[in-house]
Amino acid sequence: MSELIAKKTAEAINWHARALALSVEGRAFIGGEYCSSASGQTFATINPATRQALAEVADCGELDVNRAVMAARAAFDDGRWADLAPVVRKTIMLRFAALIREHSEELALLETLDTGKPISDSLAVDIAGSAYCIQWYAEVIDKVGGEVAPLASNLVGMVTREPLGVVAAVVPWNFPLLMASWKIAPALAAGNSVILKPSEKSPLTAIRIAALAQAAGLPDGVLQVLPGAGATGRMLAEHPDVDCIAFTGSTAVGKCIMQAAAQSNLKRVWLELGGKSPNIILADCPDIAGAASAAAGGVFYNQGEMCSAGSRVLVQREIYPQFIAALQAAAMAYTPGDPLDPATRMGAIVDQIQYDKVLAYIAAGKVEAEHLGGGDVVMGETGLFITPAIFNTAANTTIAREEIFGPVCSVIVFDTFDEAIQIANNSEYGLAAAVWTSNLTTAHTMAKKLRAGTVWINCYDEGGDMNLPFGGYKQSGNGRDKSLHALEKYTELKSTLIKLS
Ligand code: NAD
Repeated sequence: MSELIAKKTAEAINWHARALALSVEGRAFIGGEYCSSASGQTFATINPATRQALAEVADCGELDVNRAVMAARAAFDDGRWADLAPVVRKTIMLRFAALIREHSEELALLETLDTGKPISDSLAVDIAGSAYCIQWYAEVIDKVGGEVAPLASNLVGMVTREPLGVVAAVVPWNFPLLMASWKIAPALAAGNSVILKPSEKSPLTAIRIAALAQAAGLPDGVLQVLPGAGATGRMLAEHPDVDCIAFTGSTAVGKCIMQAAAQSNLKRVWLELGGKSPNIILADCPDIAGAASAAAGGVFYNQGEMCSAGSRVLVQREIYPQFIAALQAAAMAYTPGDPLDPATRMGAIVDQIQYDKVLAYIAAGKVEAEHLGGGDVVMGETGLFITPAIFNTAANTTIAREEIFGPVCSVIVFDTFDEAIQIANNSEYGLAAAVWTSNLTTAHTMAKKLRAGTVWINCYDEGGDMNLPFGGYKQSGNGRDKSLHALEKYTELKSTLIKLS
């Protein structure tokens, strides 16, 4: 769905009335059916815009994890999915994508209520992007094949890719369904069985799509959804019968997952982790107002809850006054509002823990840096809303080094090209970066020198297209989501050699 159509659709709907009428499923999905956790335990998921509970959700423990792994293993071993003709699997996944589109308003509403993000964004970005991702990998299934190796004439060497088996996908809360789709779509396309563990802060869309996958014809046992806290994810990482864990989340938890994999069965580990991305505005930037507007979007979109947030804005000294004025003006577009109002561009922070964390960073920033505005609590009696905060800071302060995952922008002034590169790369992270310049040589040279998985030139956060791999250098992770490269993560490579007579 284009953003314009999504906006028109969003405007035509009374979302508050829809929210009142919404029925919410909170149970796990194992072996083709919804079920409570074996212990009967639940946790509440909260709407951060109202601080009110939305639903009680199954808190899956060890028995549920074992049951889900057994169901996934059985489905994989009998080939009910992996052995279907590629064109059949493609048709089922295309139907799955179509059902997500058909239910996009319901899913967008669930996403907005669960995370606090604006409804227009849920519709145009999260849900539309999830359907597109599933469709994209569906279309790949009957297009990619293996290789025949160039061997001696009495030998035939085939190089083929096979599914890994049972894949656990553990995902975060900032783009709940989209991050889940970036894992489950390539994993299912490759023929695996999947166990999806959504974040305890935003489990509702993941739970809902299990039924849509089943309605599309995905055989029972091929996709389970296991809501729960971090402990549920840890049990999957430690499980000896899980073949791969694909994780998106914090660097700290990524390290725990790698350790758990090493200490259990050396399952394959794919990590998409944090970031503190530099957005470099050179004095010869072609359009200062445009760069400032993109910089504001780069750090304030989705309440700043973005792994790729351009939270370090590096500005060359000559244009600093002009740029800051434009950035402050652009930040006004992100004044928080009711997430169910289609005009809102900044919603609520996901929960009290994240809200307190962001406010603590803002308080620290006021001590260690020059506060240029924002970072105020608004509508505090209603929900968890913070206005976009801008600081002018040295490169070594806490707010300029640590991932905040909230609407906090650190502006750092630099003088030379080399200084910009040094500051930009002086980070444990390497997820994304951007450069604004009119000079082609400067653009290419900087892009090469930046240690980041994605480099944008004269734009920020462009690239919703599935053809572009996404992931990080250094402690931003390993492997890549999206593109054909992600498909490879969910396969083993096999060499088969045949000797002729
Ligand atoms: P998190 O690491 O706290 O949690 C992520 C998921 O891991 C959740 O489902 C959580 O329940 C689970 N988990 C927690 N402890 C676990 C453990 N010990 N073992 C296994 N699973 C465990 O991250 P979050 O707060 O949900 O998300 C924010 C982080 O995600 C940020 O650091 C952000 O940069 C990162 N992120 C990265 C990308 C990317 O593509 N690189 C995309 C989105 C978010």
